[in-house]
This record gives sequence, C-alpha cells and structure tokens, in this order.
Amino acid sequence: MTWADVPPDSDFPVENLPVGVVRVAGHPRVATRIGDHVLPIGDVVADPMFERATANDFLASGPSRWAEVRDRLHGWLTEPANARPLDSVHEVQVLLPVAIGDFVDFYSSIHHATRVGELFRPGAEPLLPNWRHLPIGYHGRAGTIVSSGTDIPRPHGLLPTEGGVWRGPSARLDFEAEVGFVVGTGNERGRPVPPGEADRHVFGVVLVNDWSARDIQAFEYQPLGPFLGKSFATTISQWIVPLAALAPFRTSPPVQDPSPDASLTDPGDGAIAIRVEASVGDTTLCRADLRDLYWTFAQQYAHLTSNGASTRTGDLFATGTVSGPGANAMGCLLESTRGGVEPVSLDDGSTRTWLEDGDVVTLRGWAGGRSADDPDHVRIGFGEATGRIVPGDTDGGPR
Ligand code: MN
Repeated sequence: MTWADVPPDSDFPVENLPVGVVRVAGHPRVATRIGDHVLPIGDVVADPMFERATANDFLASGPSRWAEVRDRLHGWLTEPANARPLDSVHEVQVLLPVAIGDFVDFYSSIHHATRVGELFRPGAEPLLPNWRHLPIGYHGRAGTIVSSGTDIPRPHGLLPTEGGVWRGPSARLDFEAEVGFVVGTGNERGRPVPPGEADRHVFGVVLVNDWSARDIQAFEYQPLGPFLGKSFATTISQWIVPLAALAPFRTSPPVQDPSPDASLTDPGDGAIAIRVEASVGDTTLCRADLRDLYWTFAQQYAHLTSNGASTRTGDLFATGTVSGPGANAMGCLLESTRGGVEPVSLDDGSTRTWLEDGDVVTLRGWAGGRSADDPDHVRIGFGEATGRIVPGDTDGGPR
C-alpha cells in the first residue's frame, strides 16, 4: 500500500503510475500521478531526462529503463518513511505529455466499420474486401493534437450546395471515442516489427478523441481519404498509462476469419480489456470496450511498419472509433444517430444529431475496477479527454 492519499475509486492507484508533464514553479517536469496528486519523477530518480518539457527522452530510453523507473517509483511511494505532502494536480499546469511525431488513425472496430458500411452502402456487403485482411488506417496530423481541456473551434470548410460549393461552418461536427498507443522506442527504416515484439516498442496508452466534421469529410474524402474533416484537432488525455500497468488486462483477440497473413498474426494477448465511455455534457452516450476490436494494437503496429516504414519516439497510433455490438456502444454520433437521421436524447431533455457550440465531450476509460466485470483487479484509469466546442473563425475570407 502507498502512503499517498488515493481515493477508493481513483483512476490512479499506485499500480498505475502514468507518465505526464507538469509545470511546477515555472519549470516543466516529467511526473507521475498518484490519486489527485503529482510526483515529479526527478524527485525520486535524479536524471536530466525528467527535467524536460516532454517525456520523449524517457520514452526513448527503452523497456529496461521504463521498468527500472517504475520499480523505483513504486518502492518510493510504498515506503512509509517517504511520506510527505505532494502537489495537487489541480494546482499545477498539466501539459501535453509528449512531442508527438507521426500520427496514424486506424479503423479497427468491426462493429463501427459494419454500421458505417451499412449507412454508406445500403444493401451491399458492409465491409469492403480488404477489411478482414489488414488494419485499415490513414496518416493524420500530429501538429494539431491537443491536451485534454483545450477548446475546439468549429471548423469551416468547403461544402456542396445545389449547383455549387460554399465555404461555411461544419454543421455535422462529431466526436470519435478512441484509444491511442504511444511509441517509446521506434524501429529503423527497413526493419518491420512483428506483432510479438510490439511490447518492446510501445510505451503506453492514452484516450483519443478524433473530432470529425462529417460534412467536410464527406465532400473531400474521395479518392484519397480523410483530410481537413479530421485534421483541425485531435484531443488526447494528459497521462500516458504504461502498458506495464495494463498487463493484468491483456487478453486474446476475437477470432479472425480468414486468418491474417503471418506478418499480422497476433501473439495471442494483443487485445486489452479497457472500458471506454463517451459523454456529451452529463449524458453518457457510449459504453464500449477495447477488447471488442477486431485488430489489436500489436497488429496495428506491425502493419504500420510492415513495409519497412520507421517509427519514432512519440509517434501515436489510434484504434479508430471504439464501438461494440450493443446499441449503447456506438463511439460516435455518425453511428448512434444513423448519419444524423435519428437524434439522440440528452439528460437535460435536449436532443442532438451533431455537436452544438458549447457542447463538452468527455471520454473516460479504465481497466479493471470493482465492477461486476472484473472484481479482482484494481482500477487502472486514464482520467479524461475532454473538449468544448466553440464557434469557429468566421473571417476565413470570401465565400
Ligand atoms: Mn478516427
């Protein structure tokens, strides 16, 4: 047990020990979080890599150093002689944890892909022929990834009208509840990483909201895929939960039929049971689980390096919308409103087809906990990835 004060339902018990960056007394410091307090790692393990504005140097130091630092933090926080007041997380500024390199977003939920396929190609086979053979993905925009709590201006874009195109605010703004994986040590160009070695490269996990302007996306995406409908902002949670903390929740992936190519065969425990919830205001619209994804993070990482592409410290790859089989497990409004046709109700009596200015979207995620699902394990949580929609710039030039 730790001497630190950890509320019973906290996302951040001593078994978690996530990594983030906080500004304390004007200085950025790489820190961990325990309950509602922060502990600069440099106070326990003296190393210049912890006195930086990002955790990149620590993530680059590799799996044996990650494990050693984790052991040192755990030992320090469980030694009663070390007991002392720690800074409240509410009294420090929490920064983006890493300088993000490349960003990839996959499309790995078969439930999401099937429902979207039925919406866009009614009457046809919902999954395109490639879907069960490889994790579909696209390269996104790393420079617009923002930390939880950052406002999201409504994007403006070119939209079709009868007989023409006009430039205006997106009227179909959506969220996507996702989970993202942060690369610690990259791979060299020309050296693909098989799924069984993904753990040696991936440091940890964050929540990701892949904000999406569906009307901008629908007009621009053919034939090359998502562009400005996605690139205006992506929100991530503030603390990177190490894969090491999630080890008790690893599980086998769903049956994959047909069997994937040998280069994509999961080692058997690449799936992780993580509950993912999405709320608009106080209303939880989605309760899904990462274990229901078809493709695992190990397969995603193997696929993105399978052509010899290199990865670097701080690269982020996200799962795609995390949806499950149930009607309450749809990770975006596109799905839950059937393309804006069937509004969803909020607890305040209002309805939504798409997000309105002022709406606050909050993603939450955790593994274990004292739930009926998993009463034996302590809760390992991610905190929140939250963002508020604000009116966008209306001075974008001639219309
Ligand atoms: Mn997405």
